[in-house]
Amino acid sequence: MRSRIGVYICSCGTNISENLDIDQLVRFSSGLENVAYVKTHALLCSEDGKSHISDDIIKEKPDRVVIVACTPKEHEKTFRNVLQKAGINPYLFQMVNVREQVAWVTADKQTATEKAKAYIRAAVRRVALHEPLEKREIDCNPDVLVIGAGPAGMEAALTLAKAGRKVFLVEKNSFIGGRVARYEEVFPKLECASCMLEPKMDEMLHHENIELLTNSEVREVLGFLGNFVARIQKKAGFVDREKCLGCGACYEQCPVTVRNEFDYNLSDRKAIYVPYTGALPNVPVIDTKNCLRFGDSGSSTYREAYELGLITLEEYEMFRNQDCSKCRDACSFDAINYEDTDEIVERNIGGIVVATGFDLFDPSVLSQFGYGSIPEVYTSLEFERILAQTGPTGGKLLMANQKEPRSVAIIHCVGSRDRNNKEYCSAVCCLYALKYAHMIEKHAPEVKVYDIYADWCVPGKDNQEFLDSVAGWKNLHFIHTKLPMNIAIQQADSTIALSCVDLAGKKQEFSADMVVLCPAMIPAKDASALSDILLISRGKDGFFTEGHTKLAPVSTNIEGIFIAGCAQGPKDIQSSVAQASAAAGQLLSLLVPGRKLELDVITAEIDEKACAECRICIGLCPYKAIVLDREKKVAVVNTVLCKGCGTCVAACPSGSAKSRHFTTQQIFAEIEEVLK
Ligand code: SF4
Ligand code: SF4
Repeated sequence: MRSRIGVYICSCGTNISENLDIDQLVRFSSGLENVAYVKTHALLCSEDGKSHISDDIIKEKPDRVVIVACTPKEHEKTFRNVLQKAGINPYLFQMVNVREQVAWVTADKQTATEKAKAYIRAAVRRVALHEPLEKREIDCNPDVLVIGAGPAGMEAALTLAKAGRKVFLVEKNSFIGGRVARYEEVFPKLECASCMLEPKMDEMLHHENIELLTNSEVREVLGFLGNFVARIQKKAGFVDREKCLGCGACYEQCPVTVRNEFDYNLSDRKAIYVPYTGALPNVPVIDTKNCLRFGDSGSSTYREAYELGLITLEEYEMFRNQDCSKCRDACSFDAINYEDTDEIVERNIGGIVVATGFDLFDPSVLSQFGYGSIPEVYTSLEFERILAQTGPTGGKLLMANQKEPRSVAIIHCVGSRDRNNKEYCSAVCCLYALKYAHMIEKHAPEVKVYDIYADWCVPGKDNQEFLDSVAGWKNLHFIHTKLPMNIAIQQADSTIALSCVDLAGKKQEFSADMVVLCPAMIPAKDASALSDILLISRGKDGFFTEGHTKLAPVSTNIEGIFIAGCAQGPKDIQSSVAQASAAAGQLLSLLVPGRKLELDVITAEIDEKACAECRICIGLCPYKAIVLDREKKVAVVNTVLCKGCGTCVAACPSGSAKSRHFTTQQIFAEIEEVLK
């Protein structure tokens, strides 16, 4: 049956008409099979252009439409909506991009016009083969999963919860607040970090719309915007949060002492512990690796002693697997339950915010910095704990020998801005290095500080003032180098010898009792696993990639999943919190209770008769949208999950997987016409 195709050609101001002969295109298109009429307009995407198309459709009654204009990425949806309003199925439509693909890239006008003719011919032939597709809608779940309970995750959770959304906040640690909760002060106002965070943490812990799942990790997520299902592993903590009062009687009695990784191994903790004083929720957890009664691996204390030859194998065997119950005996509230087990819980949500924070580049791989071999060389996170009142020295600036250093060297850009390591700037090191100078000056004004930097990166409205405020301090010496990576650090008797070449090319040699490195911020360790679970992309630096650097800075490649804070890239607390609000705002506008969500109509389908049950598509589908019907012995597409990516269609050896709106017939017809 013949079609009646209407063709509309846009000049896009002069973007298209300047380099294409529109009159020639009109004459050419009018002569194509099935074309009933051809119209032109100066700007089809304008309000006037859109009403021009819809009035015309009502008058001319085409059964299919071709629009010759710009990229479908920008306006395919616009024109589909126009067609829908004018009473034509929006999929009986094809768009030809003669702006980006022709006018802007083909210099010669006649060559460009010929190229455009080929594209129009292909679109006209293709659209005649289109089938109408019907819109599908489903209910949308307004609840949200937030992954990570640092400042960004907490901000997103609270914003959503206050707007009435149920929020499931998943945190892999036993406490909330992220790394910031372990800092003493934050730049540039030198506010007390815990005073700043505690009201938020408290509000969050008591908010009726927030379910906090600590010691938990997301293991699987299926679904799409409005209808995700998350499977979350809740690890056994062995202490009942409802019964525990946080009195600490249990860990006082625990006989095992190990290094405290939450203090970067600068202090000790017990096998039942809260990671640091003031951690919230104030509920201890049992570390089964080191606890005597969960003796699979035995206490590392005893294991280490055995490995060092300090105890015999018999003694080690005797100590491990002990039926210790000292913590349970000490607890007056019956809060300790050794029978607790890991469990998998499922939560249904409509959207996800990923706020998993950052880790630090390991400076021990750069031997020039002496980290790991020279005892008084610390990373910035370790130094944060030394400066913290809840840390290993109670906030006193002390070295391992409990003496105050006479001098401290702070080195910026360790592993950052370096082609061989991390090429990017970590954005916050200059500012926290200044914070250290301020804090050292406040606590120990006689201590000499060397600040070795390459450039100052202090954007933001209060930060230049923060830098200016240290000018003229008699004990603060700035050394401007080309790149601090070229520094050499060596242990020299009781002090540390440093040398580098300054910007003037002069060798600078000095000594310090303590060295603080400012390593690059890197993606959190679990970013790669989470990216596989959520199917969201990461950039070459490993951080999650935003939808568009400027226009969609908190979106991801998966609709309904947003990123906030350092999960997206290095940034300060202000920017992290701003991103979290933006992510929450996006979800609030997308997941409106009672509103329906439109599903993709361009999906795959599998011809049951032709399917050979090879299961190749099941393994390849990136959206986990294909399952095996065991009774019928065929692969079946779940069209709710299918995104129409076409992977299965390309991979299916029997040709039984097909994509609606991208059939072999349609694609071949288009190619044939372009190549004619
Ligand atoms: S003794 Fe009991 S109530 Fe006190 S902190 Fe330990 S588990 Fe909680
Ligand atoms: S087109 Fe195929 S591979 Fe792609 S999402 Fe749909 S079922 Fe999965």
